[in-house]
Amino acid sequence: MIPGHEIVGTLIDVGEHVKNFRSGDRVGVPWLGYTDGSCNYCRSGRENLCNHALFTGYTIDGGYAEYTVADYRYCFHIPEGYSDAKAAPLMCAGLIGYRSYRMSMAEQDIKRLGIFGFGAAAHIITQLAVYMRKKVYAFTRPGDIVAQNFARRLGAVWAGDSTDRPPEELDAAIVFAPIGSLVPAALA
Ligand SMILES: [Zn+2]
Repeated sequence: MIPGHEIVGTLIDVGEHVKNFRSGDRVGVPWLGYTDGSCNYCRSGRENLCNHALFTGYTIDGGYAEYTVADYRYCFHIPEGYSDAKAAPLMCAGLIGYRSYRMSMAEQDIKRLGIFGFGAAAHIITQLAVYMRKKVYAFTRPGDIVAQNFARRLGAVWAGDSTDRPPEELDAAIVFAPIGSLVPAALA
């Protein structure tokens, strides 16, 4: 198995049924590389939960190679102006972060957004949220001063321990950390 779950590359050939990509196109191959398209999750727009999903660099060969093969239905055109290094993280952390961000903004007038767990997805989506004039409150592992400083540098108005209460009530929260006890904390 070849690792590498956020691929940016140039197409050298496409299958005969592929209409939306041509050889020479610059594309991104994301972490979620295949789903069955037929289960309840897939048919309700939640393909990220598909039980038959395949993942780039984990159950499909990934990007640490000169060549790879990808399912065009999961690939993205990469606009000019993004370097490979800047585009690649969008293929996992960016996608997951943006999906969560979009869902957190489902209601009107969401201004104060809490983000629990300040890793790759949070660091991308904080920049987007700040650009969209949201106030970001970053919650990290207790005592993780480095991550808290990083969050403030990216524009978070507040950063603290996940066990702390924020100075203001939040309108919405995203939990990126895979820690169940943060769910009731975020809801509170
Ligand atoms: Zn499915």
